[in-house]
Amino acid sequence: QAKRDPKEKCVRFHDTMRLRRDENLALKKDMERAIEEDEFALYFQPIALTASSETVSAEALIRWLHPEKGLVPPDQFIPLAEDTGLINRIGAWVCRSVAQAQVRFRKRGFDISISMNVSPWQLSDPEFTALMMDLPDLYGCDPTKIILEITENVVLGEIPDALTALNELKIIGYSIVIDDFGTGYSNLAYLYNYPIDGIKIDRIFINDISNGGAIVKLILSLADALGATVVAEGVETIEQRDWLTENGCDRFQGYLYSKPVPEDRFLGFLESQAHIPTK
Ligand code: C2E
Ligand code: MG
Ligand code: MG
Ligand code: MG
Repeated sequence: QAKRDPKEKCVRFHDTMRLRRDENLALKKDMERAIEEDEFALYFQPIALTASSETVSAEALIRWLHPEKGLVPPDQFIPLAEDTGLINRIGAWVCRSVAQAQVRFRKRGFDISISMNVSPWQLSDPEFTALMMDLPDLYGCDPTKIILEITENVVLGEIPDALTALNELKIIGYSIVIDDFGTGYSNLAYLYNYPIDGIKIDRIFINDISNGGAIVKLILSLADALGATVVAEGVETIEQRDWLTENGCDRFQGYLYSKPVPEDRFLGFLESQAHIPTK
């Protein structure tokens, strides 16, 4: 094998870094335009009861309808939005859009809860809590039917004023759920000290059910002890759903039931169901 010049390797490393930086700068500019031009959309994925497969709520998931690239999934821009602070503006769009969607759903006869994803960094933005407080007056939405999903891709304790913000949001009537539970910086102390209503079990643990599901059982008993609701994410097989039913997990979400779909398709899906409970 030919010996490589270490200097050459170094140059290549720096080229890669520069490329990455240039790409990120371009993506950031692109996102700024997308905010101005209103290029985002919400898709909805139903959350259903494991025992009866009845839809009980929906998760709103952002999509970027890019004029050239087509549909861009959140994993490709939310992390950079978080790094650059643009998440506050995108997050505000999500808040307003979820509030308006809830009112539209209600008018169509589906008074269901909607979950929205909140980046932990938004919790230290005073404009975020102020907007959440204004949403009911602005749009006529019901905060008791809006669930905030907070991912733990960062230590919540290190986010300035996160606890204060969560307590304020609870007082207004919103519910708080920890997303991707078990994969991030999940810390048992949060569950006691933070006003948490529920847990979403990350799909890596649901995937593991075929190996016995020890972690899922553990999370279920933890949630039970705390009086927290549980949703299993990423359920793709009937076997997984049935295992969840047998082990006392009431709610699930996943491709087995439905992928995230645009609003009109989501409402069509609800309309095609025989019976929709209201809670
Ligand atoms: P998440 O909140 O954990 O959302 C669940 C993700 O799993 C979604 O990906 C969904 O499409 C996907 N999923 C659902 N069921 C299945 C399944 O059965 N199998 C598999 N393989 N995947 C499934 P999506 O929509 O690409 O979103 C990715 C992440 O982006 C979300 O993860 C969330 O963390 C973030 N995100 C989405 N929308 C927003 C938003 O409005 N604001 C913020 N801050 N983050 C968002
Ligand atoms: Mg989520
Ligand atoms: Mg999740
Ligand atoms: Mg997840």
